[in-house]
Order: sequence, then structure tokens, then C-alpha cells
Amino acid sequence: MHGHADDYPPVPPMTAALSAACPRCGHGRLFNGLTKLKPACSVCGFDYTSMDPGDGAAIFVILIADFLVVGLALYTEVTYAPGLWVHFFIFGPLAVVLSLWLLRTIKALLIALQFKHNAHQGMIDRT
Ligand SMILES: [Zn+2]
Repeated sequence: MHGHADDYPPVPPMTAALSAACPRCGHGRLFNGLTKLKPACSVCGFDYTSMDPGDGAAIFVILIADFLVVGLALYTEVTYAPGLWVHFFIFGPLAVVLSLWLLRTIKALLIALQFKHNAHQGMIDRT
């Protein structure tokens, strides 16, 4: 069951990200719950502990979700001038749902890109 990366056909990073699947085999689940990384793939045994997207996903979520939700709220306010309750009940939940979905997807995308490009922690070669 546990194999080398060359034993598996390449999985496009966007496909792995949208399905939150293992970047090596494309079948195993990447997360335990919403955004907590599993220790390893349940299908191919790929060790996820070496994959670390850090805070990168959160920065992208803040930039993308805020731009979309605030832009849409401003457009709605200027165009239709609805009551404050419309903003509260539409854009509040939209911001939460969009942020959670984006956080999960972008975190999976960063992990898939790390795997594809064989990215590692930087080290100084003193030899
Ligand atoms: Zn796998």
C-alpha cells in the first residue's frame, strides 16, 4: 500500500485542492474535520507531517474573501440602499462560509503545490 511518489499518476494541484484529497494518490482525505491536517493518507500512506502551508492560506483568504464580500456589500448599499438587517443576515454568513471554504481549499492547494514542486524547509549546505 505504501509506495513511492513515482508509483502514482500525477494529480493536478487544483483537482487535489478542490476535493481536499491527498496530493500523491488523489484518493485519501487530507483533513480531519474542517482544516486540521491528518497525519498521513489513509489510502497510500503518504506522510502529511512534512507538509506545512503555515499561515499562507489565511493571508489569501483575508485578501480574497474581504475583497469579494466588502465589494459586494458596498455595491448593494450604493445601488439598493437596503436596511442594515440585509447586510447583517446576508453578508455576515456569506463572509463566514466563504472564508471557511476558501481556507480549506487554499490550504489544500498550497499542500498540493508543495508536493508537486518538492518544496522543503530551506537549509544551508556547509560542505
Ligand atoms: Zn494518498
